[in-house]
Amino acid sequence: SKVPSITLNNGVRIPQLGFGVWQMSDAEAADAVATALREGYRSIDTAAMYRNEEGTGKALAASGIPREELFVTTKLWNSASQTWTREAVQREFDASLSRLGLDYIDLYLIHWPRPMRDDYLTIWRAFEEIHRSGRAKAIGVSNFQPAHLRRLIDETEIVPAVNQIEIHPDFAQTGLRAFNAEHGIATEAWSPLGQGKGLLDDPVIGRIAARHGRTPAQVVLRWHLQHGIIVIPKSVTPSRIAENIDVFDFELDGDDLAALDALDKGNRLGPDPDTFD
Ligand code: NAD
Repeated sequence: SKVPSITLNNGVRIPQLGFGVWQMSDAEAADAVATALREGYRSIDTAAMYRNEEGTGKALAASGIPREELFVTTKLWNSASQTWTREAVQREFDASLSRLGLDYIDLYLIHWPRPMRDDYLTIWRAFEEIHRSGRAKAIGVSNFQPAHLRRLIDETEIVPAVNQIEIHPDFAQTGLRAFNAEHGIATEAWSPLGQGKGLLDDPVIGRIAARHGRTPAQVVLRWHLQHGIIVIPKSVTPSRIAENIDVFDFELDGDDLAALDALDKGNRLGPDPDTFD
């Protein structure tokens, strides 16, 4: 495949660019994932909360692509009203597996830390059991801040393979990226395109895109890739699905990267992980 891989801290390899399916129905996800697989994507990012694991799984099965060539991520929606026990986590994991029609997941993530509930250590110990059983090749977290990661590292056995966090040029998260790197945790960017809102109209990005004969979305994805970040852009539009993976035949230079780095304004689009329940 044209997409390079990153080796995680447990030796598992993840494609550096994958396909996100948030805000798609089952039917939309089935169509979009089929298109993505035809365009060469092999990594798919879903979640129990997206309610499209079934549609995603149908497209994976229909593709005929051997399971070992696919990389499937899903997430535990731990913002339900319950207090998590290990048994409840196991049941939720099994439910995701069966909706996806798979017998293992490549990467299983805790969706949010929800620190006010103080249950992510319990959840993580259940994730460790799932990983040891071979049913999740890698386990990781999403939206974890340094304080949450430090507790996991200090009080449990397995260091998360991945921390999936919001990152785009105007919300660069350089401190958290450095913390992840120091601890051997790969950084994966959600909403890499800034959810297609204002970011892609930025004149600095537009100027760089014009100079390379590329689109703003492609320039933004190159910025992530050249910083060593895993990206999972989303689209339901076939031409954009193709455009977003067509980023491996050009490079940003040092001036481009510096101009994009200078766009960081702390412009968070999603919830703050310290307060989101
Ligand atoms: P994104 O940054 O990938 O933006 C997607 C939107 O950008 C599209 O809906 C479309 O409007 C626009 N777009 C896409 N391609 C384009 C192109 N080539 N040109 C112009 N516009 C384009 O946003 P996202 O969906 O929020 O994030 C990507 C994925 O990250 C999600 O699908 C999901 O898998 C994951 N995610 C995870 C979390 C988490 O809490 N872990 C939160 C949000 C998203």
